[in-house]
Amino acid sequence: CAAAVLVARQQMKGSGKWAKAEAILRELEDECWASTSKLRQVADAMAEEMHAGLASDGGSKLKMLISYIDKLPKGDENGVFYALDLGGTNFRVMRVQLGGKEGVINKESDQVSIPPHLMVGSSHELFDFIAAALAKFIAKEGEDFNLPHGRKRELGFTFSFPVRQLSLASGTLIKWTKGFFIEDAVGQDIVEELKKAMERVGLDMSVTALINDTVGTLARGKYNNPNVIAAVILGTGTNAAYVEKIHAIPKWQGPTPKSGETVINMEWGSFRSSHLPLTEYDQSLDSESLNPGEQIFEKIISGMYLGEIVRRVLYRMAKEASFFGDTIPPNLKIPFILRTPVVSAMHHDISPDLKVVGSKLNDILEVPDSSLEMRKTIVEICDIVASRGARLAAAGIVGILKKLGRDPVKEGEKQQRSVIALDGGLFEHYTKFRNCLESALKELLGEAADNIVVELSNDGSGIGAALLAASHSQYLQVQES
Ligand code: BGC
Ligand code: MG
Repeated sequence: CAAAVLVARQQMKGSGKWAKAEAILRELEDECWASTSKLRQVADAMAEEMHAGLASDGGSKLKMLISYIDKLPKGDENGVFYALDLGGTNFRVMRVQLGGKEGVINKESDQVSIPPHLMVGSSHELFDFIAAALAKFIAKEGEDFNLPHGRKRELGFTFSFPVRQLSLASGTLIKWTKGFFIEDAVGQDIVEELKKAMERVGLDMSVTALINDTVGTLARGKYNNPNVIAAVILGTGTNAAYVEKIHAIPKWQGPTPKSGETVINMEWGSFRSSHLPLTEYDQSLDSESLNPGEQIFEKIISGMYLGEIVRRVLYRMAKEASFFGDTIPPNLKIPFILRTPVVSAMHHDISPDLKVVGSKLNDILEVPDSSLEMRKTIVEICDIVASRGARLAAAGIVGILKKLGRDPVKEGEKQQRSVIALDGGLFEHYTKFRNCLESALKELLGEAADNIVVELSNDGSGIGAALLAASHSQYLQVQES
């Protein structure tokens, strides 16, 4: 991914129109380019901000939120647990049956896409929607389904936004991200909001854990592989969580849990640094967003934004270089019309005449007659934008490894194996993004790369939440004591 496609450029000689388009493309490439040394600076800055965020609340752009998870599932959990998963484009309800050593023996789930008006409406409406979906799911269980006597159904709630936890099962929303903006929910206890809505529909369940999707992914990953030390989401949004020693958290208050550890939700989407390669497109995207000035790392990496960055580049080319001819395609003016899956499809187009690119241009931008040169330029833009995101995500991971002392390899010390559990559509479905991330990791880690693995860990936000509800189950605790 490092060497961008140069073919387009070679063909762009000649007319003034192409010279201008080429200038815009070259400028984009220069401004987005994250060299190895730049990535190292980003990784160092990430590690430094991690320290600062652990030292005090508000000490850094990185919130380093404490999860109060102190028992990651070990693999001997038993019983039926539920999960709610809210945070991307879909909302899910899930039931997971754990069979001790046998692991996950059954799971069922319902998924609904969240009606866009609910993402920017009121808290009441959103939580009513959630509770209704949950009630519908539970209603399907029928008469023959029963829990051990005297037990309520227990739920892990994955809520993938920054939350200041008050305890394992309560926490207030700090702010919305990823296109959600429901003002009256900010500052509210998310679990209270859910419980009130459950009462309104007559549901009696206990909420055992409120977690971030990164924390669920970590739990899920570690359940399968004890070498998992951190989890990263590369989806609509982006974030990371990792296992931290309590004594390394100066801002920790209260008694130290038996494990001596907890999970930290970094909220790395809000990372920013003067070392980040930012462009005019990023600046305008940010200032016109629902959350200007915030989530800068997220806005140059994650799936919600990559397509929008590409659109902004194309818009400028249309305006200043008549890239699409004398008029600007009207659809090109619509924010977020180019979604990241489309960017991915165009980027992966291997047909000689780039017919996938051609058909996307036709279907989405209503440009029926694109030339091969235009299509090649567009593939190059996708490559530049996606590569920047993937390389920066790799730098973020290296930042975590540095913070934990797992990079670089120390003289004479046997390096521990470190596994990073990854989830999210960008990692799972956007092959070039994933390959680029993996090669940037190798580039940065050198010989340490042999013992560092990134692994797809599917569905942590669902199964992980159920696992954490199980490992922190109030009923199992009663039995223990
Ligand atoms: C949120 C995080 C979440 C991430 C991935 C970000 O926008 O702030 O809490 O983990 O998206 O879903
Ligand atoms: Mg998810």
